[in-house]
Parts: sequence; C-alpha cells; structure tokens
Amino acid sequence: MVKKYDVIVIGAGPGGMTAALYASRANLSVLMLDRGIYGGQMNNTAEVENYPGFRSILGPDLAQQMYDSATQFGAQYAYGNVESVTVLDDQSKLIKTDSDEFQTDVLIIATGSQYRKLGVVGEEEYSGRGVSYCAVCDGAFFKDKPVVVVGGGDSAIEEGTYLAQLVSKVNVVHRRDKLRAQKILQDRAFANEKVNFIWDSEVTEIVGDGQKVTGVKLHNKKTGEDSELATDGIFIYVGSEPMSAPFKNLPIMDEKGWILTDEKMQTSIPGIFAIGDVRKKELRQITTAVGDGGIAGQESFNYLEMLKDKQR
Ligand code: FAD
Ligand code: NAP
Repeated sequence: MVKKYDVIVIGAGPGGMTAALYASRANLSVLMLDRGIYGGQMNNTAEVENYPGFRSILGPDLAQQMYDSATQFGAQYAYGNVESVTVLDDQSKLIKTDSDEFQTDVLIIATGSQYRKLGVVGEEEYSGRGVSYCAVCDGAFFKDKPVVVVGGGDSAIEEGTYLAQLVSKVNVVHRRDKLRAQKILQDRAFANEKVNFIWDSEVTEIVGDGQKVTGVKLHNKKTGEDSELATDGIFIYVGSEPMSAPFKNLPIMDEKGWILTDEKMQTSIPGIFAIGDVRKKELRQITTAVGDGGIAGQESFNYLEMLKDKQR
C-alpha cells in the first residue's frame, strides 16, 4: 500500500533533519527516508568546531542532537533506499524505495554528496584492507603506524590532523604545492610535527601483499620522479560528487548532477525542493545545509497553503 505524507524528505543529514524540523513544527506530516543511519556526513566527521552554539562537538553527537530536535514535533524517520521519483500529476510525487512506495505533494531532496574515488590500481582491491575514506571510522586500525592522506582540501587536512593523534606519521600527498583547505586547518597541519607534506605528487598505484596495503607508488609531476612509499593505510579525500542518481529522470540538475534551485530551494518542478550538499552551491557545510533546510521546511508549508487556496 502506498503511504502518504504532506512532506517527504530524502536524506536525514543536517539539511534533511532541519527541513523535517521546520515542516513538522508547521504541523505537517513529515517522513525522513534514509538508506543509512540519520546524521549523514556528520557521522564521518571527528570534531566539528564551526557549528555555532558548540565550541567543539563530535560529529555523531551533533547528529544525535539534530535528530532529537527534528523528531520532537512528530517528524518520522524510516529506513529507505530511494530508487526513483515519478511526478504523477500537477501535485503528487511517487517515491519508490527498495521495499516501499510513498506519495507526497512536497518532496525535499537532501541526499548530499559522496566521496570521489582516486581511480588507481589497488584502490578497489584493498578497500577496507588499508584503503579508507573515513578517518573517524578506521583511524584506530592504524594506531602507531604510518598512513598516507591524499588531497589538499578541508577534508584531507582536517582528517589528516585528526589521524596524527593516533598514528605514527601522516604523509599528505597533494597534486599541487598549495592547499585548498581553510587557513586555520592548514596552520594546524603545518604546526603538527607528525604531519609531512609530499607536494606536486600523485598516487599512481596502491600496492599490497594480497591481504593488506603495504605502500603507495608516487609520481612527482614537477621532477618526473617515480618512487614508492611504505604505508599501512591510505585515506582518500579527493572531493565529492552529488548523490542524485535516483532523480536523473527529472529535469532539475546540471550536467554533473548537482541540483539547481532558486533561493527558496525550489527546483524547476513545483513542490520539489533540494537542499544541502546535493545542490549546486558555493559552500558545502553543516551550517549551509541547515540554512537550506530551514528555508525548504518553511517553503513546504507555504507551497501546501498555496495548493489549498487554489482548490478553494
Ligand atoms: P549529508 O550529510 O551528506 O546527508 C545526506 C544523507 O542522504 C545521508 O544520510 C545519505 O545516507 C542519504 N541518502 C543519499 N542518497 C539516498 C537515497 N537514494 N535514499 C535514501 N537516503 C539517501 N562541514 C562543516 O560544517 N564542518 C565540518 O567540520 C565538516 N567536516 C567534514 C568532514 C568530512 C570528512 C566531510 C566529508 C565533510 C565535512 N563537512 C563539514 C561537510 C558537511 O558534513 C556537509 O556539508 C553536510 O553534512 C551536508 O549535509 P547534507 O544534509 O546536505 O548531506
Ligand atoms: P574539495 O574541497 O573538492 O578538495 C578536494 C581535494 O582533492 C583538492 O585539494 C583537489 O586538488 C584534490 N583532488 C581532486 N581530485 C584529485 C585526484 N584525482 N587526485 C589527487 N587529488 C585530487 O573536497 P573536500 O576536501 O572533500 O571538501 C568537500 C566539501 O566539504 C567542501 O565544501 C569543504 O569546505 C567541506 N568540508 C568542510 C570542513 C570544515 O569546514 N571543517 C571539513 C571538511 C570538508 P586541487 O586542490 O588541486 O583541486
């Protein structure tokens, strides 16, 4: 049987949970669907120190606090891996998960983005056996051992500095000689004697003994030199891509899959909103996901009122 809600939010990260808070507080029936535990990327973040109200908070703790806020006015959370969305008519949208069907007048897409793979030999083979995309999840496996971190953005530098507390040495391999990360994160990493930078270099292969990672092959783009570096683990932070595949049939995204909205978070389809990291936007942060979520939650109410007015 198709289950009906006023508002369905796909993705229970900070964006989705905030949208659910606002919409349920406006007395709408709201369901958050997520294919994992609520919290989204916050579950993969060690410490958050740029979310106002907390000097510093563990990512999973912030996720729990947001979940408690989001559900206090009746919003529900359920497991569901959304596979497709069909626009049925001027108003209704049908959402299919791997096991259920739902109908709603307001759909809020808050599916975020996912890590990009490096695409080198050994990455797939040793994934979970030395290759990781999550320092919080896997850092402890490399206690007092050397690791490599790839990338020069906020994720690589922040998570690399976090790893330095656990491991014997962090070798950050970056393809240029300048970091993209925020200055405060750079300064901390440069001041940490356990963090070493290997500039202008790319990882060309991840090597192992058949069981686990033993090293990485490097190519220096400036000198042309090839070398091999022994390591027990490699953490890959080379950016992200939108999780928008289930919506590919809808004309709401750019050529790379980032969803386009106006300032009310409204896409080109009335009643379909998009928020957070999955949107085409400049700054992908918890604060901006939360801001988008507040707007979309409130706009859901306005949109449903407008539909009611039309029917009167
Ligand atoms: P997400 O948090 O990505 O949540 C999306 C949710 O959608 C997920 O739970 C996912 O399971 C679900 N989903 C996806 N597809 C489907 C589907 N088909 N069906 C059902 N559910 C689906 N930002 C900061 O402000 N401060 C930080 O310190 C910080 N540290 C970070 C550290 C790392 C390592 C990373 C990767 C990011 C960090 N960020 C930080 C960025 C921040 O985490 C994101 O900007 C924020 O989480 C985006 O929120 P969101 O709600 O848009 O999406
Ligand atoms: P990002 O900002 O896109 O940085 C990706 C990094 O990987 C860049 O340094 C890039 O190099 C490098 N890279 C990309 N492709 C590569 C490849 N094929 N081989 C080697 N290196 C490659 O991604 P991110 O660091 O994951 O951050 C994603 C978003 O989350 C950002 O908006 C960020 O601000 C946010 N975030 C915020 C915080 C925080 O506020 N504390 C923490 C983490 C993440 P180039 O520099 O040469 O392009």
